[in-house]
Amino acid sequence: MSSAKPKVIRRSDPARVEIEWEDGARSSFPAAFLRRNCPCAQCVNELTGERMLDPESVPSELSQADLNLVGNYALSMRFSDGHHTGIFSFAYLRRLEPPAS
Ligand SMILES: [Zn+2]
Repeated sequence: MSSAKPKVIRRSDPARVEIEWEDGARSSFPAAFLRRNCPCAQCVNELTGERMLDPESVPSELSQADLNLVGNYALSMRFSDGHHTGIFSFAYLRRLEPPAS
């Protein structure tokens, strides 16, 4: 778990969230990618784990705002489509494979 701690979180680009992890690894998440992988109960069926959100419905030019820390284990943000209920734990973000940019 120690490797799932961010050292630096950059949000200067509204279309992207960049995390530099304590172990030196870097992840760069396009906002639309995070929206498509939103783990909240509206986007993923809690019982079956089935993704309820059609990834095709998320515009790739989506942006994020109001990025906030949740406790010391997660991030929340508001997407430009108005969705804001996702809690992205650092462990979850670390497991996500952002698309090569
Ligand atoms: Zn969601």
